Amino acid sequence: MSANSPANHYTVKPVRPEAHVYEVTLHIPEPIAGGQIVHMPAWIPGSYMIRDFAKNIVQLWAESEGRMLAVDKVDKQTWQVESCERDLCLRYEVYAWDLSVRAAHLDKTHAYFNGTSLFMAAQGLEDRPCTLELLSPDGKEYQLWKVATAMPRLNAEEFGFGTYQAANYDELIDHPVEIGQFDHIRFEACGVPHDVVITGAHNADLERIARDLKPICEAQIAFFGGKAPVDYYLFMVMVVGNGYGGLEHRASTSLLCSRDDLPAFSAKELSEPYKLFLGLCSHEYFHTWNVKRIKPEKFLPYDLRSESHTRLLWVFEGITSYYDEYFLLRAGLISQEEFLEMLGQNMTRVYRGVGRFKQSVADSSFDAWTKFYKQDENAPNAIVSYYTKGAMIALALDLYLRKETTAAITLDLVMQKAWERFGLNQRGVGETEFESFVEEVSGLEMKAFFDLAIRSAEDLPMDELLATHGIVMNYRRPLGQDDKGGKADRGNSVIKPDLGARVVRAEHGARIQLVYEDGTAMCAGLASEDVIIAVNGFRVGAETLAKHLTRYRLGERVVIQAFRHDVLMDFPVDLLAAPENTIYLGLDEENQAASALRETWLNFR
Ligand code: ZN
Repeated sequence: MSANSPANHYTVKPVRPEAHVYEVTLHIPEPIAGGQIVHMPAWIPGSYMIRDFAKNIVQLWAESEGRMLAVDKVDKQTWQVESCERDLCLRYEVYAWDLSVRAAHLDKTHAYFNGTSLFMAAQGLEDRPCTLELLSPDGKEYQLWKVATAMPRLNAEEFGFGTYQAANYDELIDHPVEIGQFDHIRFEACGVPHDVVITGAHNADLERIARDLKPICEAQIAFFGGKAPVDYYLFMVMVVGNGYGGLEHRASTSLLCSRDDLPAFSAKELSEPYKLFLGLCSHEYFHTWNVKRIKPEKFLPYDLRSESHTRLLWVFEGITSYYDEYFLLRAGLISQEEFLEMLGQNMTRVYRGVGRFKQSVADSSFDAWTKFYKQDENAPNAIVSYYTKGAMIALALDLYLRKETTAAITLDLVMQKAWERFGLNQRGVGETEFESFVEEVSGLEMKAFFDLAIRSAEDLPMDELLATHGIVMNYRRPLGQDDKGGKADRGNSVIKPDLGARVVRAEHGARIQLVYEDGTAMCAGLASEDVIIAVNGFRVGAETLAKHLTRYRLGERVVIQAFRHDVLMDFPVDLLAAPENTIYLGLDEENQAASALRETWLNFR
C-alpha cells in the first residue's frame, strides 16, 4: 500500500456529553473490493488484558454515495460491510464512561479518549495514512474547551479543534486526546518542547512540576544518545480524589494521580506521594525508548484482536521500573539514601509474596493477560510481578555486569546498545534475543544468570551482589500492614504475633482482603472477605486488631471470631510471627574496593 493512497478520515464529536456518547465517523475513500471489513481492538498496547472495546459501540450505520449499506456482524468485534465501489462512510456511537488511562471518558466536564476505544480499523488498509477531525460539542458551555494531543496537527491551531494526522492506524491509536478546560505548562528538554496538561480540580504548583520533570527528561534523552526520538512530548495528567496509573505512548503519556500527590505551592521537600508521581512520569518517559521503540518482535505489528503473548515483559516493565527511580537520582531529585530506600521498598514488595517461588518472570510475562492483570486475593501466594521482580532482576543484572567488568560494562551500556540495534532500526527483540544481546555486549557467559533470574522461581543472590558494591541487605519483620520497608526498624526488636493477612475497615470489624500463605490467618482457616469482630471475646476493628494481637505471646492459642458470609464462626489458632520479609539496605564502608564500585554506580554529582 503506497503512502500516496488517500487517507482514511475519522471524525470525533462528543455529541452527548451528558450521556457519555461520542459520535465517530470513518470515511474510507477506496475501500477493499468485495466488501470492507472493520474491527475494534480488543486491547490497548501497554495494558495486557482483553478489554473488548467493541462492547461500547452502541449503534452503527454505513453508506456510500447516498446509499445505505448492509452491515453484518462477524464476531464480537468485527463487521462486514456490503460491497461498494468508493467512499464508504461508517458512522457509529461510542459510550465512554471509564475514567482510567486505558479507555475513554466523557461528561460535561471533559472528554478523554484513547484511539483504541473509538477507532475502528479498516482491515487490509491499516497502513494507509489517517486524518482525524476533532469537533467541539454543541453548546455555549463548551466554548472554552481546548484539545491536547501529541498527534501532529494538519489543520488546527495549537490546542485547537480541527484536523490532525497520523502516518497509519498504528500511529492513530497511539496519541490519546484530552478535550476540556485544562491547565497547561511548557518546558524544553534538549530543545524539544514538552507540555504538561492537567485536567481535574487541583491546586498544584505547575512551575515546580515543570522544573522537576525537565532534568529527568534531559537525563534520559542524554542517556539514549542526546537526540530525542520525538519533536514534541505531552504529559497528560488526570487528577482525581484517589487514583494512580499511567500508560505510555510514542510521544505522550496518560497519567492518573491523586490530588494530594501533586506539590503544593508551599512545599519545599519532595513529599513521598510526589516522589512517586515523579517516578511514574520518569517510568512512562523511559518507555518512549523501552517498549515504544525497543519492543518485542511479537508486537511488530501489534495484533489487537486477541492476546499477544511474550515472555519479555520483564525486560520492558522491569528494566523500566529500575530506571524510573534511578533517573530520579541521576537528575539530582533524590539522594543516594533515598534511592536505596526505594530499592529496599521494591525488594520488600517482591519478598512479601511466596508466589515468587511458584512463577518465574518469564511465565509472569506470558500469563500477564489472565494472571497479573486479573489478580485476585490469592495473587501474592501464586504469582510474581514482572514489574517488581523484573526491576530487581535489572538491579541484579546491572550489579553483576559491573562486578564482573569493574564497571566497564553496565546495564546503561546494554540499553544504549539496544537502542542502536533495535530502537533506531525498528527491529523487534526476539523471545531469547535480549539474553544473547547482553552476552554479546558484555562478552560474558550469562546463561546461568538468566536461567536463574528469568526462568526459575528461586531467589537471586541479591545480598552477595549488593555486597560487591558495599551495600548490606538487611531483613526484618514488618511493623504493620502499612510498613513498606526500605528503612530500618529503630524500635525494640521483640518479636510480636502477626495476623498474616491484610485487612480493611468494615462496618462491624475488620474485613480480610487477602491472606498470606502459612501465616496465622491461613492456619486458623480464615479467608478473604471474612469479617473479624473479636479476639478471645474482645471486640477488634481494622485499626485495633494488630495492636490487640501484640498483647499475646507468640505461640499462644487464641480464638478469632469472624463472620463468613452471615455465619459467625470461631477460629482457634496458635499465634505466629510475621516472616522476615521486609528489606532495607545499608552502607558498608569497610570494604574500600566495594565502596569504590558503589560510587561508580550511585555517584552522579
Ligand atoms: Zn510501564
